[in-house]
Amino acid sequence: MAEILIIKCLNDNYAYIYLNDKKEAFVVDPSEASPVIDTLEKNDLQLKYILNTHHHFDHIGGNFELKEKYNCKIVGSKKDRDRIPGIDIEISDGDYWSFKEHTAQIIEIPGHTSGHIAFFFKSLNAVFTGDTLFSLGCGRLFEGTPTMMWNSLKKLRALPDQTKIYCGHEYTFSNAKFAKHIDPNNKLLDEAIVEIKNKREKGLPTIPFELGTEKKINPFLRADDQKFIDSIIKALVRFFKAEWSGAFVAIFILAIAIEFSTSGRPLSLIHI
Ligand code: ZN
Ligand code: FE
Repeated sequence: MAEILIIKCLNDNYAYIYLNDKKEAFVVDPSEASPVIDTLEKNDLQLKYILNTHHHFDHIGGNFELKEKYNCKIVGSKKDRDRIPGIDIEISDGDYWSFKEHTAQIIEIPGHTSGHIAFFFKSLNAVFTGDTLFSLGCGRLFEGTPTMMWNSLKKLRALPDQTKIYCGHEYTFSNAKFAKHIDPNNKLLDEAIVEIKNKREKGLPTIPFELGTEKKINPFLRADDQKFIDSIIKALVRFFKAEWSGAFVAIFILAIAIEFSTSGRPLSLIHI
């Protein structure tokens, strides 16, 4: 039976191996070769392709070693043809790339990098999102603007709700803390956090996660949800009010301290 294996790489990266009945496989974003080779050997697999979502080292680090060992082909964005080591097959937004009976729709999702792509396999119910969409978060803007990232996130959000998301890093727990901070009354988020904690305590990945739920709990997928935005603005106003009153008290105490040290008379400032 076809399946997707999760491989821990480097500190907190994930590579993914898809394998079919014939023991043929492709790997997505091999950060490094050795854990990928271990899994391929353990499962007696033939690596046919490497799929890269973007050019960062922690996603392409294993390209050359794997290509040399397995004589596999490397698939990546045409826009990153000069940045993806060993690229053989160049693809662009709207293209389709097939592996036997499974076909991936290529979705350009710039923001984290300018040439970032996602591979959406409808028949596998899976999308590989690299460093654009994380569980409860999104990637940093290295080569794009917030608008570019938002448009990319909207493209991913439009996929079917049952789509399982396979992202590039295990950032879920720290993302959860931020999400809870700005969305404190979201019951679904609370439930998700319990599950995330459980998994992490057992050393299990929190990946994949389902888009339908993510749309309700990931703050970065809800930037056009007016109710959510209103609640964030209210929280910000509360925050600044609290900060300003704190700052006022601090200035007041400082003024008294200065007055006391220069005149020897406490509170003389407010008596004058
Ligand atoms: Zn990256
Ligand atoms: Fe990364």
